[in-house]
Formats: sequence, structure tokens, C-alpha cells
Amino acid sequence: MKSLADCKDKIHSCSKCGLCQSVCPVYKITGNDCTVSRGHFIMLRGLIDGNLKMSKTINKYLDLCLKCGACSKFCPSGIDVVDIVALAKAEYFKTHFKEKFISFIQKYFIFGFGVKVLSLFRKKYDSKSFEKKILLFRGCGSYSKTSVTKLLNLCNIEVITPNFDCCGIPFFVRGDMENFKKYMDSFFSKIDEYGINEIVTTCASCEKTLNSYKKWQNRNDYTVKNVFEYLNEQNINLKLKTPQKVTFHKPCNITNTDTIIKILNNTENLEYIQMKDYDKCCGLNGISKFNEYGILYKLFSEKRKNIMNTGAKTVLTSCLGCEIALKLFSFGKYKIKDMTEFLAEFL
Ligand code: SF4
Ligand code: SF4
Repeated sequence: MKSLADCKDKIHSCSKCGLCQSVCPVYKITGNDCTVSRGHFIMLRGLIDGNLKMSKTINKYLDLCLKCGACSKFCPSGIDVVDIVALAKAEYFKTHFKEKFISFIQKYFIFGFGVKVLSLFRKKYDSKSFEKKILLFRGCGSYSKTSVTKLLNLCNIEVITPNFDCCGIPFFVRGDMENFKKYMDSFFSKIDEYGINEIVTTCASCEKTLNSYKKWQNRNDYTVKNVFEYLNEQNINLKLKTPQKVTFHKPCNITNTDTIIKILNNTENLEYIQMKDYDKCCGLNGISKFNEYGILYKLFSEKRKNIMNTGAKTVLTSCLGCEIALKLFSFGKYKIKDMTEFLAEFL
């Protein structure tokens, strides 16, 4: 895998124009240059050139990045800040026991034992058989086996559900590249075992991470899409059993929102109201920094206000992390639902 030193040219290509400040949700709250890409790259350049040493302070500022990628889409130098921040975190991870301990707990208790317990409560739904078969990558906490299978069977696609491990994103953002690579290897050994290279997932973060393996592993012999792309390709007319009014929160990690918006607008009996800043980060990656500038509270409060202003009582999204984050501050005023689950329930 790459290291921070391999990103030297990219880091040096930051022109310090500061355009990232205008889109970074964290900078808008803190006003501190150290919390946005420009400041990150100044610190990281110091590390690479040997003028600075990795420290708790630098790590704290790296941790404040929500990994939303808003700045990368706007950056005239086209720098992928999320990857660079993760590789910088990896430098800190190597020498800090606390980070390794948290990773250990995540691996064995949250994404190991916890997910196994959760899977006992998942409903069973056997897929119909069709000539076309795809593998379902069910995110760690997702219940979506039932709904994905129901929707893809409408497209004449058989769904096979191997026992995939986590996609590895919680380890990647922490800088635990060793475990991230283990999850990546496990994914490839599963798709090789089944001999099927088309993968569907309902979680935007899983989708983005699985697709990112292509650049880390130099493998390009598989596709990962969300279920909505299949529904769109087949041009299926969807009609809900009862009228519903919803709004939608766009996860930062989603690759193609057009497909989802098209489904929301074209489904019969479904009234879609777009909320203000529907594509602004929910703040999930700020959860561990609750006390730092009150970032999480401010992002959640703003999102909550925008949801309430739509008048919709149901908020759809397609990322487990966003679902958890949005539920934290809903105070029972509206429901948060995974879009796949919602469609399967009301179709
Ligand atoms: S927008 Fe890109 S080039 Fe400009 S300061 Fe930010 S990271 Fe650097
Ligand atoms: S990824 Fe998001 S939070 Fe991080 S620096 Fe870029 S815009 Fe700010």
C-alpha cells in the first residue's frame, strides 16, 4: 500500500488558494485553517520535508476532517484529501497504542462479535433463481438482505449473499492500513470463490470503499453498484401501496445521486421534497470530537432544521453511518429510513 511519502507531489501541488475553505463544513464552524485541507497540507508538507514531527496536535486536526470530500470536488489541483488524511493518520497509528487499542475493540467487539449478534435478527428472504446472478455485499449493520433481494428480483436478478466481512472503512479512516488490507484481501477471496464479479450494496460508504480497492490493489475486474442503478437500468415503474411524503439526505460517499433523485421523482404515490443542503455532510465522522468547537452539534442542528422545514415525516438515506447520525438528533420528530428498506416496504 502507498504511504504518506508517496503523496509528496500531490501535497506539494496545493497552491494554497484557500478555495477549500468555502465548502468545508468544519472550517465554516471553526474558522481555523488547521481544520481544512489547506492547513492540513501545510502541516503534512512539514512532516514530509522533515520540518515537523507527527504529534497529537496534528493528529487532532486530521481527526477533525469529516472525510466528506467536499473540498476535493472543488479543489483546482484535484487533490484527494480523504486518502491523504488516511495515510497521514497511518503515520500516527503506527506509534500510538491508544489508536491500536480502539482498532482492536472495533475489529473484535463491534465489527466482529457485535455484527454476528446483529445477524441473528436479520430476516430471511430467499432469492428467486434467475440466469443473472450478483453478490450482495451487506454492510455490517444493515438489515437489507430482504429488501435488496426483493428489489433485484423485480429486475430478474438472483441475489447471492456470501458472508462478507466489513468493507474496512472504519479502519481506513483511523489509519489502520494493516486491517484495512486484510478486509480488502478477504473481499477478493470471496468474489474469487464465487466466481461472480458483479456486486451490489445498499450502503454508500461500502460502495465507495469497495470501489476504492481498485486503486489500492490494482484490480479492475469487478463492479460495485447500488441497487438503484439496477432499478434504473431496467426502467422499472415503481408504485407505492400508500401515498408517502419524504425528503432525502445525500451521503457524502454516494457516487451517483442522479439515479436516486430520478427514482424519488418518478415513483408513483411518492412525494419527494428536497431539503436545503441535502448534500451537506451529516457530521458522523465528528462524533468522536463532540467537544471540539461543538462541530457535531452544529452540523446536526442545521440538518435537523432543514429536515423540519420540508414538512416530511420520513427522511431517506442510503448509508448506515448517516442513518445512525441522523437518528441521534431526530428527537422522534421524523423517521430515518434506509431507502432500499423503504421502497421494499411500501412497494
Ligand atoms: S482548494 Fe486545493 S489547492 Fe486550494 S488550498 Fe485547498 S487543497 Fe490547496
Ligand atoms: S474532507 Fe470535508 S471536512 Fe475534510 S477538509 Fe475536506 S471539506 Fe473539510
